[in-house]
Amino acid sequence: MADIIQLLPDNIANQIAAGEVIQRPASAVKELLENAADAGATEVKLIITDAGKALIQVIDNGKGMSETDARMAFERHATSKIRNIEDLFRIKTMGFRGEALASIAAVAQVELKTRRTEDELGSYIEIENSQVLKQEACACAVGTSISMKNLFFNVPARRNFLKSNAAEMRHIMDEFIRVAMAFPAVFFSLNSNGQEVFHLEAGSLKQRIVQILGTPYNARLVSVNEETDYMNIYGFVGKPETARKTRGDQYFFVNNRFIKSAYLNHAVNNAFDEMIAKDSFPSYVLYIDLDPSQIDINVHPTKQEIKFEDEKIIYAFVQAAVKHALAQFSIAPSLDFTLNPEIQGLDAVSKPFTTDKKNAATSSNLFKTFSQKNQAHFIEGNDRSELKHWKEFYTPPTPDGGVETAQIPDTEHRIQKHQTLHVLPDTTLLQLHKTYIIASTNSGFLLVHQQLAHERILYERYSLAPHGQQMPTQKSLFPVTLEMAVTDAALLTELLPDLQTIGYQVEPFGNNSFVIQGIPADILAGNEKHSIELLLEQFKHFSSDIKFSRREKLVRCMARQQAIKAGQSLGQKEMLTLAEDLFTCSSPNVTPTGSPTYLEFKEDYLDRMFGR
Ligand code: ADP
Ligand code: MG
Repeated sequence: MADIIQLLPDNIANQIAAGEVIQRPASAVKELLENAADAGATEVKLIITDAGKALIQVIDNGKGMSETDARMAFERHATSKIRNIEDLFRIKTMGFRGEALASIAAVAQVELKTRRTEDELGSYIEIENSQVLKQEACACAVGTSISMKNLFFNVPARRNFLKSNAAEMRHIMDEFIRVAMAFPAVFFSLNSNGQEVFHLEAGSLKQRIVQILGTPYNARLVSVNEETDYMNIYGFVGKPETARKTRGDQYFFVNNRFIKSAYLNHAVNNAFDEMIAKDSFPSYVLYIDLDPSQIDINVHPTKQEIKFEDEKIIYAFVQAAVKHALAQFSIAPSLDFTLNPEIQGLDAVSKPFTTDKKNAATSSNLFKTFSQKNQAHFIEGNDRSELKHWKEFYTPPTPDGGVETAQIPDTEHRIQKHQTLHVLPDTTLLQLHKTYIIASTNSGFLLVHQQLAHERILYERYSLAPHGQQMPTQKSLFPVTLEMAVTDAALLTELLPDLQTIGYQVEPFGNNSFVIQGIPADILAGNEKHSIELLLEQFKHFSSDIKFSRREKLVRCMARQQAIKAGQSLGQKEMLTLAEDLFTCSSPNVTPTGSPTYLEFKEDYLDRMFGR
């Protein structure tokens, strides 16, 4: 019998090895971006066609390769990053296994152009199926451009395993984001099928995070920063209000390498403790730096899992650092949800209202400013003392009380019926300061706040929707596409069914984009996009408030958003409609958040005021 064991030919061995490192287009993207970062590039461009199935190209301005190195780079176990086993525990680079380019060359058609500053000419190499097809000198920019076409062209079984373009593109974006977050000082762009998906200018860590997670995060990040001899941790956690129902924006980097760790994730969750609802997930982007000898990154071919020398210390440290950061900010008080993010971001505003800090905080000047009744950003105190004060002021001192009092816009009085109150039909309405409407009634006059009144009207209209009545939709003649940040896209998807009931027709379009097919009948066409963005923005702002259902929040946001604003001139007809609509509401006298919508001045009260 003949011997039967044979050595595998190189290209087959490489293909098999490639299976570990390159599972899908996104894995190649990760390896190529990391190589660019390792080469010291300050500018890295990623170009994708057909979710990486047709083309993945990475262009960097890093240090480039010599002619020989360019050829060597594609050999298996060829690396410039380690020389002996000790180096493995001093790793500062992203790569070190020397497998990526060999793997890529085994399963795709690869073209490399590379030049070092000191070389006049660069090198061009064409390679596929691990075979060099062409190698020649070429003129090219300093740095490296590597493009891989038709991934898995020679391994049809693998190619067939690839998911839809949308799914593969999502993986690519995930990898792109992870590398971009690790190198904020490097410019990154991502272009997919000719469209620029990301354009991330070099900047600070915070800028990079906000560029990626979206501007709403700007005022909602709490900085984490602790240093010890053993390890440092820095980065940001989202304020409790950014917590999501879906595990979205959670990023851990160890020595600048994105890692997945359920264990460390648990440490962060624990630090958030009671601050967020049980079933929601905090957002965070955290970086741990420690001596490379304390970790083993070589436990996983794509290096996404690592082993710590002492896991318990890391856990305790992460938890303590996050707790400390949160303690400095505490839970935001229950602010009026329109409060603008800049103001809410101020320490003094976001600090009050935890049990231990309440007293100190409520005595702060800034807090007082925000809790004054005449401020737009009025914080509702628990005892509603401001409203009580207001009541005293407007309630005329009559012995028999009740009947003669002004309508007290207080939620406790909501049930009160208002049929008796109606605006006289044939009087002229007067608009004051483009904000107030003065309307005569049978017994005096009303001072109606146009915006607050309209908010009440819309609130009741939208609230009706769940009871079987869908709000009327106007179909868009030219459907508008909406491109969203990854996280916003997830939130929007979650809200779609509810949005539908209030008149929005929005359909997912893959790749975090959506098409707006229709909008509620009372939204100005041309404003579709803005109105949805605003809605999401407000919703997020509001989303830590667990006492309301998702629908209730959405309805409140919609009403707030769509209400005509103070400062808008209104015609007679509009004012009349507004007044009539208001008094068909079941609780016309308050907004959903409890502000008065109008003040009533009764004739006899006025008389008394004038000493009659
Ligand atoms: P590793 O990154 O693990 O060393 P790779 O197969 O990814 O292995 O790359 C092999 C070698 O090719 C690297 O060690 C590096 O010297 C060189 N190389 C790869 N990509 C680039 C690049 N974009 N710029 C400069 N050198 C590169
Ligand atoms: Mg590499």
